[in-house]
Amino acid sequence: NNDFLDSSDVPKDKQLGGLLASGFDEGSCLSRYQSVLYRKPSPYNPSPYLLKKLRKYEALHKKCGPDTEMYKRAVDQLKANQSIRATECQYLVWISYSGLGNRILTLASTFLYALLTDRVLLVDRGADMPDLFCEPFPEVTWLLPLDFPLNNFDIFHINSPHSYGNLLENKVLTGGAMATGSLPAFVYLHLAHDYNDHDKLFFCEQDQLLLRKIPWMILRSDNYFAPSLFLISIFKKELNQLFPEKETVFHHLGRYLFHPTNAVWGLITRFYRAYLSKAKERLGIQIRVFDVGTGPFQHVLDQILACTLGENLLPHVSQQASDIPTVYGKTKSILMTSLSSGYFENIRNMYWEKPTVNGEVISVHQPSHEQYQQTEKQMHNMKAWAEIYLLSLTDALVTSAWSTFGYVAQGLGGLKPWILYKAENQTAPDPPCRQAMSMEPCFHAPPFYDCKAKTGIDTGKVVPHVRHCEDMSWGLKLV
Ligand code: GDP
Repeated sequence: NNDFLDSSDVPKDKQLGGLLASGFDEGSCLSRYQSVLYRKPSPYNPSPYLLKKLRKYEALHKKCGPDTEMYKRAVDQLKANQSIRATECQYLVWISYSGLGNRILTLASTFLYALLTDRVLLVDRGADMPDLFCEPFPEVTWLLPLDFPLNNFDIFHINSPHSYGNLLENKVLTGGAMATGSLPAFVYLHLAHDYNDHDKLFFCEQDQLLLRKIPWMILRSDNYFAPSLFLISIFKKELNQLFPEKETVFHHLGRYLFHPTNAVWGLITRFYRAYLSKAKERLGIQIRVFDVGTGPFQHVLDQILACTLGENLLPHVSQQASDIPTVYGKTKSILMTSLSSGYFENIRNMYWEKPTVNGEVISVHQPSHEQYQQTEKQMHNMKAWAEIYLLSLTDALVTSAWSTFGYVAQGLGGLKPWILYKAENQTAPDPPCRQAMSMEPCFHAPPFYDCKAKTGIDTGKVVPHVRHCEDMSWGLKLV
């Protein structure tokens, strides 16, 4: 069990195998170095090349980040909207967009792209980014300064004339413009689920060569687009060195980037210590139902039970309520997360009303039930982030198909979850769940294009480590 929580004599790898830089003020972000007290050591080690790359990135960020001389120069260039020549510092601005899980995944993908292209990542604070996450880079902030000249991101959408797709379609960006150096100072990358075929050319090598020349990029996405970066030939070699184990991309980058603020860390640690730390084992069950109507739905409950009992994640109950075990077995805590409380109440009652057949003692806990997705309420996303993080601290995880909320938890936790397949026509699917091939998130809207042959292809069949997802047949994931 978790006696380790309070034992200070065990040396802990606070920097996660060198992933985290030293030198941060510990008190300003307790989660950064305290996560090792709550999470088992990861069986996956970051490659020496990744560690080197991160330190190099940190130095670049320090040189070019907000409030530096380089930053001011680059902003002046942006204001003049002319890229005279490639500058020493190039930038990638991430727009805060969509639900929390989506945001975390796109931010990780965007950071990976920044690493590959030596750009400085700057983060739009949106409604609540600084309330949720600590600064990940030493000394210089990752938050986009409030006086950034392009401060209205509403103008960036699929039809925006600044989008890469539209610049191509309207022949603003051409080989000729490149030769004469008359390229714009910035380009908007529309990589959201509704992006068009021109926008998707972002994933082509030729286009990457052109984009290299443009000092500023503004990116909007709600997808984990990292898998498709592995199909761009100019990035292949470097990606191989960074991630010899392909399924660890989000696992490492996520644990490097996303540290809960002290307020969220309080939500996490209080809940963990009160309800989870004492148990011998912890099982996370993340329920996300995309059907219309408020639940709970019987078919979803049936599916959760069919999966957890069938896969021996939870014990069956005896039909004899009067059976009392001669010896009680181990304790197991279930952490449930869901917008509704119905599933949790049902399962908790089941283990209260009937004894388990093997004597195991099951406790069931759910931190919140917020009913519906809310975007503006500050505490709502703090709770959502705390719940994602708590799920990542469990020993085994059951997640819902299509949910980025679950993807983040599995990736941070280094867990291959059992995925509850999406129900069709209000019926629990058979089999109800399957264990994932890898802990990587799924890219829900990948391009299906062969840039060289200029024709459609199945991008899930090009290399063995980029495959179709378990929970979405057209999605792509790293394995
Ligand atoms: P996805 O829609 O499942 O891919 O996940 P997102 O995180 O992108 O968006 C869902 C949003 O709904 C979250 O950001 C939360 O605001 C809310 N939400 C969904 N499920 C839960 C839950 O189990 N707990 C809490 N607290 N919020 C949730």
